Amino acid sequence: MKYYDQHLHTFLSFDSQEIFENYLLNNPAFFVATDHFDLHNPGNKFHDDIPDYDKLAQKLSELEGNYPTTFFKGIEIGVVPGQEKQIHDYLNDHPYDLKLLSIHQNGKFDYMDDVVLTKDKYAVAKMYFDQMAKVLDTFTGAQILTHFDYGLRRLDFTSQELEEHFEKDLKLILKKVIRKEMALEINAKSFGYYQNANLYRYIIPLYKSLGGTFFTLGSDAHKADDYQALFPEMAGLLKEFDINFLVAFQKNERFFAELP
Ligand SMILES: [Zn+2]
Ligand SMILES: [Zn+2]
Repeated sequence: MKYYDQHLHTFLSFDSQEIFENYLLNNPAFFVATDHFDLHNPGNKFHDDIPDYDKLAQKLSELEGNYPTTFFKGIEIGVVPGQEKQIHDYLNDHPYDLKLLSIHQNGKFDYMDDVVLTKDKYAVAKMYFDQMAKVLDTFTGAQILTHFDYGLRRLDFTSQELEEHFEKDLKLILKKVIRKEMALEINAKSFGYYQNANLYRYIIPLYKSLGGTFFTLGSDAHKADDYQALFPEMAGLLKEFDINFLVAFQKNERFFAELP
């Protein structure tokens, strides 16, 4: 199988206007959009951001008639402790083929809000990683842990600082990812725009040393121009660590794909 983007957004997300057709200009064999689900979202005036499931289903059935592409339903789920039951209940009624697990916010602020700049960066990072570790215990059904560095994007951490202050937390998180047979995402926004490639250069061998083998690449595109952004560069980083395959999730099955 040829690898394809497993993290991108459309107009079904609160922060994207992109249409499916623009992504499909790339003629992918497989296509999945992973729109934002974040309840009580401080990043959007505390709205419950839930991608419109009926619109997605309707759109995909229309596209299936017009494109040779195979389509899957995806979603990027931001989880705050305390929301698990509501989210699980929702997902029981609204089945998805691909579920990404993200930590974006803590019920009070988004980890990318300016407010984090007024706080002690070690305290913010600790809060963020503790939330991630907790949610990995309490939330089930996701296949990919996205952008592990999201909560650090505004904070200027070096890999040495992560190693010195958070290696124990990160090992705990990675062990949970491995136990749940989830994949670790290499995120193009983190890698490129937010210049956190070095943090990935640190976490990839750490994950590998604990037995982790499942990796995905995600552009996190919010517009079609960014489809599969930085895939060769991110694949190059994985190759530095002798990682030779990626995983794709389709309807709860796992497939292996060569690095692009
Ligand atoms: Zn995200
Ligand atoms: Zn995203």
